[in-house]
Amino acid sequence: MPEHLTAAAAAVDAVADIITTATQHLAAASSEGGRISVEKLDQHQVVAYDLAHAASAVEGCRVMLDYAGHGELESMVARAFIADAIADVATRVIARDELWGVDLATLAPGRPFVAAHRSPGFLEELAEQLPRHGTGPIHLSDDFDLVRETFHRFAEEKVRPVAEHVHRTNADIPEDVIAGLAEIGGFGLSVPQEYGGFASGGEHDYLGMVVATEELSWGSLGVGGSLITRPEILTRAIVKGGTEEQKQRWLPRIASGELMVGVMVTEPDYGSDVAGIKTTATPTDDGSAYRINGVKTWATFAGRADVLMLLARTDPDRKAGHRGLSLFVVEKESAAGHSFAFTQDAGTQDGGGKIEGRAIDTIGYRGMHSYEVAFDDWLVPAANLVGEDGGLGKGFYLQMEGFENGRLQTAARAVGLMQAAFEAGLTYAQERKVGGAGDLVGKPVFDYQLSRAKLARMAALIQAGRQFSYNVARRMAKGEGALPAAMVKAYVCRAAEWVTREAMQLHGGMGYAEEFPVSRYFVDARVLSIFEGADETLCLRLIARRLAEQALEE
Ligand SMILES: Cc1cc2nc3c(=O)[nH]c(=O)nc-3n(C[C@H](O)[C@H](O)[C@H](O)COP(=O)(O)OP(=O)(O)OC[C@H]3O[C@@H](n4cnc5c(N)ncnc54)[C@H](O)[C@@H]3O)c2cc1C
Repeated sequence: MPEHLTAAAAAVDAVADIITTATQHLAAASSEGGRISVEKLDQHQVVAYDLAHAASAVEGCRVMLDYAGHGELESMVARAFIADAIADVATRVIARDELWGVDLATLAPGRPFVAAHRSPGFLEELAEQLPRHGTGPIHLSDDFDLVRETFHRFAEEKVRPVAEHVHRTNADIPEDVIAGLAEIGGFGLSVPQEYGGFASGGEHDYLGMVVATEELSWGSLGVGGSLITRPEILTRAIVKGGTEEQKQRWLPRIASGELMVGVMVTEPDYGSDVAGIKTTATPTDDGSAYRINGVKTWATFAGRADVLMLLARTDPDRKAGHRGLSLFVVEKESAAGHSFAFTQDAGTQDGGGKIEGRAIDTIGYRGMHSYEVAFDDWLVPAANLVGEDGGLGKGFYLQMEGFENGRLQTAARAVGLMQAAFEAGLTYAQERKVGGAGDLVGKPVFDYQLSRAKLARMAALIQAGRQFSYNVARRMAKGEGALPAAMVKAYVCRAAEWVTREAMQLHGGMGYAEEFPVSRYFVDARVLSIFEGADETLCLRLIARRLAEQALEE
């Protein structure tokens, strides 16, 4: 291994040691009777949150150490990322070392590596490569290059031309985008082959979804990037817990794009704390159906959707918590626009139900619209309970199955969005000439040291996010995914805020103008750390908690 990579690996190991020690410290402070107590863990939220991000950064560093082996450019990209990541961890620990229970001196031997690779000179050298190589080579097999090309072309030809209009007018996603995506097989990527899709049950499925989502999000987060995420969430829940008849009934129509999907978990009073949801599903007297009552919110695409994956309480005893929840596939008519209202035939014995939705106006992520939806005695056949009677009380676990993948897809969405922002920032910086002193008078923004360092760091972060997502996709295929998926989601979505911010900043005033897509990238990026598990909740309740539990077990 070249000397600078040995130094990089040693510096990463030192950070990993800090994480291990801090996790043991946190676990000891948060345990009760040999188990992690959430109440106790909550007394250390500030440390737990930072620890979760720091541990995620270390995972990313390890992935980039492998990536570095591909060549000199890859090594430079990796080293730039690793040096920044270590510096970030250090700032989280500084003056909180006692709370972490660590000695910051552990990081001291890595200082020369970090200094060398955060130096303006090194970053400028890396920046020299950007006009030709962008964020760096991707290194996936030819198969995936084909997937990438297909979805990239679709994003370029079908998504980008309408993205601006949809955003500025808060319009619906044009039907020909949906039809076109169906035509290239987008909706079938996660559906098993025996049910009309392309998934064959291996690494290929997970990576294929990530690559496709990344490219669609490069086109637009609102118009393209999220279209295939929802079908995947429902597909995975049905594959895991549905009856054979349910699989036959829904999966082929999801794969073909005939059924658009909405996901309804969040409620006005319960977002992060899903186990508490109040929407009820009560069986009718003859047991042939369930009546749904309650309010769901933030249900993206619920208007256009033909089916809604609904998490509802089937056990009226609220003390049952998440064990009282079941998952339903609710059929409805598809509706365009920003509101809908449907009534079931009041003439029949079991009719008279209502469903009403209104889109919540948002600063970005426009096109699919996210709705608040009220159910009033809406009748759903018992055959639509995922798993039928065997699925009673399993809804929470089934939706988690879908959401683990949703998190990986959200990281892929962040990578695609960052890539778009990076390209916009780089192009603008090369074209825009600004005043300066000496040789730099009237030179492009890109020629200045600060811009170069910025773009080099952006490129490194994007490539790290991409490689980290691929790595997690492979691990998910092996069933090792829950913790890594949460880590990659939390880390890469935060990164997208900084990258889109800097891309906007490189545009100066024009970055704030709606006519430049970079302003859209900036507002779109903000949602990534909120949905599919708010950053804080994900870090505290999932990442830090699991790490602490693992530390107790060791
Ligand atoms: C554009 C958009 C689209 C969405 N699409 C969907 C969808 O299709 N389907 C769906 O079901 N949901 C969807 N959501 C909902 C999303 O998943 C929730 O907004 C998210 O889970 C957070 O829940 P909340 O909004 O209730 O926030 P809250 O739970 O009220 O959280 C508020 C703040 O408190 C923090 N917080 C919460 N608990 C803790 C704690 N224990 N300790 C410390 N901090 C805490 C959170 O991190 C957050 O910062 C969408 C949201 C948005 C904005």
